[in-house]
Amino acid sequence: LVVDDNPAIHDDFRKILQPASQVDDAIAELEAALFDAPKEHKSSLSFEIDSAHQGEQAIEMVERSIAEGRPYALAFVDVRMPPGLDGVETLVRLWRHDPRLQAVICTAYSDHTWGDMARTLGHSDGFLVLRKPFDTIEVLQLAHALASKWTLRREVERQLSELETMVSQRTRALETANSELRKEIAARAQAEDDLKHIATHDSLTGLPNRVLLHDRLGSALARARRHQRLVALLLLDLDQFKEVNDSYGHAAGDELLRSIAGRLKSTVRNCDTVARMGGDEFVVLLEDLAEPEDAAVVAKRLLEECSAPVTVLGHQVRTPPSIGIALYPHDCSDVETLLKSADLAMYQAKHSGRATYRFFHQGLLERSMERVTIREELERALCDEEFELWYQPLVDLTTGVVTGMEALLRWHHPKNGMVPPMKFIPAAERCGLIVPIGEWVLRAACRQLAEWHAHGATDLSVAVNVSATQLHAPGFVEMVISALEESGVDARHLEIEVTESTAFEDSNLARAVLERVAETGARIVIDDFGSGYSSLNRLKDMPVHMLKIDRFFTKDIADDPRDAAIVLAIVRMAHSLGIAVVAEGIENYEQLEFLRKRDQQPEPIPVCDRAQGFFLGRPLPSEAATTFLRAERRLDPALDMAG
Ligand code: C2E
Ligand code: MG
Ligand code: MG
Repeated sequence: LVVDDNPAIHDDFRKILQPASQVDDAIAELEAALFDAPKEHKSSLSFEIDSAHQGEQAIEMVERSIAEGRPYALAFVDVRMPPGLDGVETLVRLWRHDPRLQAVICTAYSDHTWGDMARTLGHSDGFLVLRKPFDTIEVLQLAHALASKWTLRREVERQLSELETMVSQRTRALETANSELRKEIAARAQAEDDLKHIATHDSLTGLPNRVLLHDRLGSALARARRHQRLVALLLLDLDQFKEVNDSYGHAAGDELLRSIAGRLKSTVRNCDTVARMGGDEFVVLLEDLAEPEDAAVVAKRLLEECSAPVTVLGHQVRTPPSIGIALYPHDCSDVETLLKSADLAMYQAKHSGRATYRFFHQGLLERSMERVTIREELERALCDEEFELWYQPLVDLTTGVVTGMEALLRWHHPKNGMVPPMKFIPAAERCGLIVPIGEWVLRAACRQLAEWHAHGATDLSVAVNVSATQLHAPGFVEMVISALEESGVDARHLEIEVTESTAFEDSNLARAVLERVAETGARIVIDDFGSGYSSLNRLKDMPVHMLKIDRFFTKDIADDPRDAAIVLAIVRMAHSLGIAVVAEGIENYEQLEFLRKRDQQPEPIPVCDRAQGFFLGRPLPSEAATTFLRAERRLDPALDMAG
C-alpha cells in the first residue's frame, strides 16, 4: 500500500516494484544476497500495489483488507500529506487495525527525528525510514526485506497456531484418555470393593459372614486384652427353622432369616457385630462389657425380640432362638475356642428345652471331650473285636418251646469290664458308629443262627435290634440281604426289631425301608411297644409281624388290673390285625401264669404268643446259649458244639 498525496510517487513505486520480467533476475540476485537463498531460485515475491492518497483513505483500505482476509504486507507512508493526517499519525492508526503491517516512512525533510517517530509510534521496530528522493535499489531492498519478514512472521504465526491447535487437540485427547483411565480405576476399585464385600458378607442377609467375623473377633480380643474388658460371643440357633423351611419352602425360610437378621441388628448397639454363620445360625459379638451379666441382659432382649411371631409369605411363624454365650477371657484365650465354647453352650440351651440361653462352663467341655473319647474307644472296640453278642431266649407260650433268640450287644471294655448296651449305644448313635457296629451285629447273629440250624434247631429264629440311624443309612436293606446270603440263613428266621418311635417317626423313610426289609422275607418286630406315643391305628398300615409289649406294662401284670387290662387290649388289637405279640420282662412265675392262661372254653388259651424275660432265660454268651438250647432239647445232644 502506497500512501502518498503525490500521484507521481505512486507511479514510481509501480515502476520499481512491478518491473518487466528482465528485472526479475536482478531482484532474484538481490534476494539471494539478502536472504542467503540459492541464486538459481527466482524471486518468490511479486508485489501488488494499491494506492491511497490520504491517511484516512489508507485506514479505510487497511480496514477493508483485514475484513476480506487479504491484509497488506507493507505500507510506504509519506510523512506530509496535507490537508489530512500526517504519515506518522496515519501509521499509528493503521497499526491499530493491523499491527502486523510492515511500514516504511518516506520523508523528504528532517522535520521528524527517528527518535520522535519511534516514540509516537510506540515501536522501535516494524518501521523503517526512507529518504526522498529515493533510490530504486533502496526501495527494492526495503520492499523485499520487509515483505519477506511479514511473510515469515505470518508463516511462523500459522505454524504456531497449527501447533497450538495440535497441542490443544492432543491435550484434549489426553484429557479424555485420562478421564477414561480415572473412570476405569474407579470402576476397578468399586469391583474390588464389591468382591471384598461378597467374600466377607452373607448374600442373603447382608450381614458379615464367618470370614469377617473371625477378623472382627481377632481385633475384639486384642482390644479387650489392652483395655482389660470382657468380650461376649452369643451364638444363636433358631429353633423350628427347619420346620418353616420344610413346610413353607425355601423362599419363606429366606424371608424369615432376613427378618431375624434385621431384628438382631436393631436389638444391639451399632458397635456390636451381628454375623451369620450359615444356615439358621447367627452370632452376636459384644465388646467392652464390664461383667458377664451384661451379656445375659442382651441375650434376654434378643430372645424376646426374636421370639415374637414373624409373617413370612403370609404365614405367621415363631422361631425363638437357643443362645449359647462364651466369654473372653473367662472361658478361653483365642477365637477358635471362643466359637467352640459358645457352640457347646448353645447345645446346652437346646437341651434345656430351647428358647433360652446358657453360659459356657467347663463341665460342657469335659462332656464334649468324653464324647470324643468314647468315639475313639468305640472305633477301637470295633477294630479290636471287643464286641460280643449275648442271646436271650423267646419262648412260645402254647408249646413252651424256645422259638427264637434275641441278640443283645455287649462290650468287653479292656479297663471297665462289661459295658451294657444302654451305656454306649446312644453315643454310637450320636457319632454315627452305630452303622458299622450294627452291621457287625447283624452278620454275627446270622452266622450264629446258621450254626444252630446246622446242629438241629432248624426252625429257630434270631432277633436283631436295629436303630433309626441304621435304618436311615444308605444300603441298609442290601446289607441285610448280604448278611443272609453270606450265612445261608432263610430270611423268615430273621427278626428285625425296631422301637416304636423309629418305626412310626413322621417321615415315611423308615416305613419305606421296613417295607423293603419285609419284602426280603424277614420279620418286622416293634420293640418296647407302649413306651412311645404312637397311635395304635397306624399299625395297620405298617409291615409289622410282631409286637413286643414293653416291660413297663408286664411288670405288675399279675397284681394291677389296670396293667392287665392294657396288655389284654393291646393283644386283642394286635391279633385283630394279624400281628403276633411277645411279652417282655417276665421275671416271675405269676407273670408267666397270667400270660399263659386265659379262661376260654373248652380250654384255656394263652394271652400272648410268646414271652421273654429273666424267668425264662437270661441273656447268655454264645457258648452258654448253645448249652442252654441243648438242655432245652432244641439242639441235637449228640453233636459236639465246642468245635
Ligand atoms: P431291648 O431290645 O428291649 O432288649 C431287652 C433288654 O431287656 C435287654 O437289655 C435285656 O437284658 C433286658 N431284659 C430281658 N429280660 C428282662 C427281664 O426280665 N427284666 C429286666 N429288667 N430286663 C430284662 P440289654 O441287653 O441291656 O439291652 C438294652 C437295650 O439295648 C435293648 O433293649 C436294645 O434296645 C438295645 N440293644 C441291645 N443290643 C443292641 C444292638 O445290637 N443294636 C441296637 N441298635 N440296640 C441294641
Ligand atoms: Mg429288642
Ligand atoms: Mg425291648
